[in-house]
Amino acid sequence: MTLDWFQKGMAHIWLPYAQMQTALPPLPVASTQGARIHLADGRSLIDGIASWWTACHGYNHPAIFAALMDQAGRMPHVMFGGLVHEPALRLATRLCDLLPGDLSHVFFTDSGSVAVEVAMKMAVQYWLNRGERGRSRFLSFRHGYHGDTFATMSVCDPDEGMHKHFADVLIHQLIGDLPRDDEGEAALTALLEREAGTLAGIIVEPLVQGAGGMVFHDPTTLRRLRKLADRFGLLLIFDEIFTGFGRTGTLFACESAAIVPDIITLSKALTGGTLPLAATIARTHVFKAFLSDEETHALMHGPTFMANALACAAANASLDLFASEPRLQQVTNIAQWLEEGLAPCRDLPFVCDVRVKGAIGVVELERIADLKGLKQALLAEGVWIRPFGRIVYLTPALTITEDELAILTRAIVTVLKQRDWSKQG
Ligand SMILES: *Cc1c(COP(=O)(O)O)cnc(C)c1O
Repeated sequence: MTLDWFQKGMAHIWLPYAQMQTALPPLPVASTQGARIHLADGRSLIDGIASWWTACHGYNHPAIFAALMDQAGRMPHVMFGGLVHEPALRLATRLCDLLPGDLSHVFFTDSGSVAVEVAMKMAVQYWLNRGERGRSRFLSFRHGYHGDTFATMSVCDPDEGMHKHFADVLIHQLIGDLPRDDEGEAALTALLEREAGTLAGIIVEPLVQGAGGMVFHDPTTLRRLRKLADRFGLLLIFDEIFTGFGRTGTLFACESAAIVPDIITLSKALTGGTLPLAATIARTHVFKAFLSDEETHALMHGPTFMANALACAAANASLDLFASEPRLQQVTNIAQWLEEGLAPCRDLPFVCDVRVKGAIGVVELERIADLKGLKQALLAEGVWIRPFGRIVYLTPALTITEDELAILTRAIVTVLKQRDWSKQG
């Protein structure tokens, strides 16, 4: 089968995170439905990662489709400078109702990275507006991932490899270890005693560090961070772009620790996997630091497609689904199915950890020596799973059925048993 658009277009397209000379050719997709990706060649794959964790209700949910059609006929987009519209203001109101505490001021952007950039900008300017200079850096954590733009790269794990080339160009941030126990807390306290005066805030992915390796920590760790942020007077930023909207078992990961960050970022599943949209939400005291007679105290940011009406309509429809369908119960079910389905991997000598939190299942290998071979072997099982680093992981749609999930976990077990993937094949 030769697809004209594929042959011609591949000479012109530049793909993400790919060495274009040696990467496996991408798979042409014809359509999606539920937990399935239908390929142009007629094959159908069960999707194990819900398109980078976005498609929380599965693909093509009719309720989101209807909301999109309705909004498209009325107004796909209008600039947000000086103009507002119902989908955005409704969405802002609903997000603030769902979030804990006084997280109550929403700034919309069009991607996760930009939402984090805005959070960082807010935090730095918060101090400037209050007349405190020199607080321009952030404490972030090893294994963290917050985006691919320059400021967000600077708070990612510096050794993870993805952004290593840019070390010389990046803002020099403070990278620490998460305070997982009393000893960790003491170490971080010592670090903050030296450095806190130069910091604007602390940024962390609560409960699960996603793209940095699906590394888990517990709510106690987050409570320690809240305590340290309070003690040293720092803003605490939770990047919930991955963990938001049920992924870890509560609607937002911060609920598990019963603490309120000063700023939170959301994106990924916000529109149910349909359109790009992100939000940076600040607590009242942060917002108030920008209120002034001084024009220069305003937040000078405003993406062209800020609060895109179609995306906001999709997000509202997605929130309706969280209210009307049992998503969090589905996450509890998925957690149990993942535990059972991935358990056989524990017996493999080159597997060093199998872990599950909410609708996230991870098999960590000592190392993956042949990532390409592993990807191809998984494909041959009819599943779409993208191992990276040392892990094979599942973050399926929250609506996935037990049978579909069993196909995914069985594929992982079957493929990992084929050979020792920690060695070259
Ligand atoms: C994906 C992700 C981002 C970046 O979002 P983009 O939309 O890809 O820019 C930032 N933070 C976290 C935790 C993410 O998972």
